[in-house]
Amino acid sequence: MGQYVAPIRDMQFVLHEFLKVEDQLKELPAHAETDADIINAVLEEGAKFTSEVLFPLNHSGDREGCTHDPVAKTVTTPKGFKEAYKQYVEGGWAALACDPEFGGQGLPVVLNNSFYEMLNSSNQAWTMYPGLSHGAYECLKEHGTDEQKRLYLPKLVSGEWTGTMCLTEPHCGTDLGMLRSKAIPEADGSWTITGNKIFISAGEHDMSDNILHLVLARVPDAPEGSKGISLFLVPKFLPKEDGSVGERNPITCGAIEEKMGIHGNSTCQMNLDGAKGWIIGQPNKGLNAMFVFMNAARLGVGMQSLGLTEIAYQNALTYAKDRIQMRSLSGVKAPDKQADPIIVHPDVRRMLLTAKAYAEGARAFTSYIALQIDRELNHPDEEVRKECADEVALLTPIVKAFITDNGWIATSEAMQVYGGHGYISEWGMEQYVRDARINLIYEGTNTIQSLDLLGRKILMDNGAKLRKFGDKIRAFVEENGTDEAMSEFVTPLGDLGEKVGKLTMEIGMKAFQNQDEVGAAAVPYLRVVGHMVYSYFFAQMAKIALEKQDSGDNFYKAKLATARFYFARLQPETATLIRQARSGAASLMALDADLF
Ligand SMILES: Cc1cc2nc3c(=O)[nH]c(=O)nc-3n(C[C@H](O)[C@H](O)[C@H](O)COP(=O)(O)OP(=O)(O)OC[C@H]3O[C@@H](n4cnc5c(N)ncnc54)[C@H](O)[C@@H]3O)c2cc1C
Repeated sequence: MGQYVAPIRDMQFVLHEFLKVEDQLKELPAHAETDADIINAVLEEGAKFTSEVLFPLNHSGDREGCTHDPVAKTVTTPKGFKEAYKQYVEGGWAALACDPEFGGQGLPVVLNNSFYEMLNSSNQAWTMYPGLSHGAYECLKEHGTDEQKRLYLPKLVSGEWTGTMCLTEPHCGTDLGMLRSKAIPEADGSWTITGNKIFISAGEHDMSDNILHLVLARVPDAPEGSKGISLFLVPKFLPKEDGSVGERNPITCGAIEEKMGIHGNSTCQMNLDGAKGWIIGQPNKGLNAMFVFMNAARLGVGMQSLGLTEIAYQNALTYAKDRIQMRSLSGVKAPDKQADPIIVHPDVRRMLLTAKAYAEGARAFTSYIALQIDRELNHPDEEVRKECADEVALLTPIVKAFITDNGWIATSEAMQVYGGHGYISEWGMEQYVRDARINLIYEGTNTIQSLDLLGRKILMDNGAKLRKFGDKIRAFVEENGTDEAMSEFVTPLGDLGEKVGKLTMEIGMKAFQNQDEVGAAAVPYLRVVGHMVYSYFFAQMAKIALEKQDSGDNFYKAKLATARFYFARLQPETATLIRQARSGAASLMALDADLF
């Protein structure tokens, strides 16, 4: 069932050479001691845990799925999941990047990011159980009371308890302003919550002692719409004062969904029948608090698709070197064999390189943003912290949508490399395609991410955040513009940067007349900006590779070839995307709904 070898060499390249992470971390007092030895040791140990413990459970977890007992209202996860989680907790992995004040190891987010990629390559469905805890931790840390932090954070940090996000209801997913779950205040300061949530990932399971549900509901007399939503902490078991697990709270799983992929993760219908909860933050400000969770989860979903892109690529590569079929058009390459390995064929290479380039682009991108989060949290200069926060806000919808769209493309191409064998479950490739598909949907569909980017993050901000990021690109283009060896990268980068500026202005002008112009342009627009970001990162990586291509280390030759492929074959789709984005709303809105 294939294999997983963590791409440590490329991770080290991204961290040490591309980001120069040790120098960057030295500027942050909290992480000044994190040196290359620590980073490399965590990568090595993480690679062992993920490839030896989690990866072997990926296919079996998919086949077996989760089991719901409707009488006991329990969910049993696939064989081995619980034991692997125990190892994860005992190994201290849950606590890696958490605050030492709550029992965390205090390592940087940028390092956790690489480990998180490994987790997702090995087993996305399993990783979602602890993955959601991370968002819950972030949210409670920022918006919880001191008492809530004292009682809950150490358990989330250690991994003894896991978290969920309970937003979606049957009649509303995107438009949370319509949600109906209700919360009634009690004299003791707690709230009684009733309602029905659907599609709750890891809503019920047998892997941890307790589950902390973060639930959106309405308080009495709440304003209509999204201004009337509050956030509550609703534990599966009510904790006792000493932190041990107490009485069962009536928040239970009514059913689990049958679904296309991620079968090892329980997607639960959750019923709140007068469950006891505590408010997080202020009444009616719940969506604001929940955004902390949602932003962490959006980055996490991008990482899921990076993980799948990498594992699908690795296995397709092995297969393409092994499978023989037909002869090369340019002459026999393996005369000792009956046919040539399929990796000789140009289009098989295109498929492999597409997955490789999207994996390497996403790795550079997510590592960059993770480092920006470390700087946002820990840089001594407030101005720098603010700049980093702005950039993370701008780039988050691109991480979510661009990487997951590319993950869908890449896993599908990797499956295609196998021909018919890719479609057969025995090889495991079809699972990656099925697992990848949800990433475009949950945590706000990719359409919603595109609207967030173009509408909220760019137009409502008069393009200020985008211009700041553009300044970095312009500086890089100016610095390298006269270097002939770099022109194949710098010219298309500079060109695309200018086009993005013009396109943004054009859409902004049209939007004054008709807001539907934003909705009509947003999806291709996000993809164009995504390519601008990747062009910037690939150009920087190509520069390092050019300098070291004669070092004798073939890694740099491969990096250069991948960057060249990216600019030759993937980035040019921006020409079509720009035309689509410019074509406006007219062709979409002309047809009356009843004439479709
Ligand atoms: C496996 C799985 C796990 C999930 N896990 C969780 C979880 O843990 N917690 C949780 O709360 N939810 C979870 N969800 C729910 C998920 O986040 C929602 O399904 C998703 O946000 C979309 O909501 P919806 O399904 O109601 O679709 P709808 O909101 O009904 O959207 C339908 C379509 O309309 C489009 N659309 C809607 N509004 C607009 C607009 N303004 N402009 C353009 N297009 C628009 C959408 O993009 C989509 O294509 C999960 C879902 C699944 C399938």
